Amino acid sequence: MKQLGNFIDGRFWPAAGGSFLDNIEPATGSVLARVPDSGTEDVEQAVAAAGRAFPEWSARSVAERATLLETLAAFIATRADDLAALESADTGKPLKLAREVDMERARANLKFFAGAMSHWASAGHDMGPAGFNYTRREPLGVVALITPWNLPLYLLTWKLAPALVTGNTVVAKPSELTPMTAHALCELAIEAGIPPGVFNLVHGTGPGCGQALVDHPSIRAVSFTGGTATGKTIARSVAERLIKLSLELGGKNPALVFADADMDKTIPGLVRAGFTNQGQVCLCSSRILVHDSTHDEIAAKLTDAVKAMKLGDPKEPDTDQGALISSAHRDKVTGYIEQARSDGGRILCGGEVIQPRGRCRDGYFILPTVIADLPAESRLHHEEIFGPVVTLQRFVDEDEAVHLANSVDYGLAATVWTENLSRAHRVAARIQAGIVWVNNWLVRDLRTPFGGMKDSGLGREGGHWSLEFFTEPKNIFIDGR
Ligand code: NAD
Repeated sequence: MKQLGNFIDGRFWPAAGGSFLDNIEPATGSVLARVPDSGTEDVEQAVAAAGRAFPEWSARSVAERATLLETLAAFIATRADDLAALESADTGKPLKLAREVDMERARANLKFFAGAMSHWASAGHDMGPAGFNYTRREPLGVVALITPWNLPLYLLTWKLAPALVTGNTVVAKPSELTPMTAHALCELAIEAGIPPGVFNLVHGTGPGCGQALVDHPSIRAVSFTGGTATGKTIARSVAERLIKLSLELGGKNPALVFADADMDKTIPGLVRAGFTNQGQVCLCSSRILVHDSTHDEIAAKLTDAVKAMKLGDPKEPDTDQGALISSAHRDKVTGYIEQARSDGGRILCGGEVIQPRGRCRDGYFILPTVIADLPAESRLHHEEIFGPVVTLQRFVDEDEAVHLANSVDYGLAATVWTENLSRAHRVAARIQAGIVWVNNWLVRDLRTPFGGMKDSGLGREGGHWSLEFFTEPKNIFIDGR
């Protein structure tokens, strides 16, 4: 049984209290590893190590820091198969998804921010004979990175790369449900030559370990991705200290399907947007809004395409749908399906827990589910389910489509499916979401702003937004006389 350690000052340590959490493999229900159940003392040591490393790390040149990130990116590329196997076992996601999306993106995150920082210029404001202003961007100090279980290495590297390349030192806390690739990244950091104390990582629960990190008085910024309720708790915790806070939270993302949509693009797009990673992506389109005239055709074609997906062992190369993250999460999702039945919804496909034969018979699987005819006020149209469940809703015109799209507390992402260019621009501008994709889903350019409106978050990540978050601007005026 693999036993993981906290990564502090370049070395692995057990939790100070000596206790461990079981890390369960979702596809089998068996214990994969034991994870330190850390608390205040472990956090204290990690923050102290990061504080000691800060002066030397922040004084290094951008080129030196960028080169170390590029080395780490190269290690992820060469170990991608092993890392993908770890990620797949830890999350229940299909191995091919872990390999093609998660590992590729983890590599790209490190490489991208190494390059972005190398091209980043600071501003100058010329006042003519009176003088000149220039703006330095200074690292903040020790920053906390807290990440969820759905895209473990992808999201950890998305925060780690800009934090480190701008000269901060880091204490990260991955989800207690998915610690495996975070641990592997620490091993690679040693090999890559990242100096001790620059990158530290503590494992443990949210209330026990994450909260201690957020509350530590030496933490200068918190970058958090996770649920909206947790994000609000963290915001309250740091409010007194007025430190920088970035929140990437939940979503209830609409897909707006107009009558002129190209079915050949739209149906596979909706399947991908609804069910990638068993619907456990914050950006998943879980509410499909369809023009009344094409509702039944879309419902039939979508149902056929969803039924054609293969659910099973994440290790199998042809598996499309793996396991949900935990038994508790499976029960939460099935609770929503029960709610749909009692709300009078029509289950067009799925709607059941399933136990595949063999190795995965005790895993946490739900058949991908499409539900129609729910009343507008149903909880399924408003609350984030975060599982393989999509709902269909009808609209009669553009105004109603936009109204339905905006009728939830969230505002992370949306997709618009239409062949009418004017409509695409018009509708995209009216949707309350940080990201709108027209005729596609989850196409990412790492230079663009990423984040949500309303209950989906605060601030943006990506490109210079991340570099700005992890630095403090300081203006310096030089008298011209
Ligand atoms: P979560 O909020 O339960 O946990 C996220 C992380 O926060 C974990 O590491 C957890 O241990 C930690 N945590 C929990 N309580 C804490 C506290 N009081 N103080 C500090 N840390 C604490 O979320 P989850 O269930 O792991 O992830 C699923 C959620 O994440 C979904 O709502 C999903 O939409 C969201 N998400 C958002 C994005 C985005 O970019 N907007 C991306 C991925 C996931």
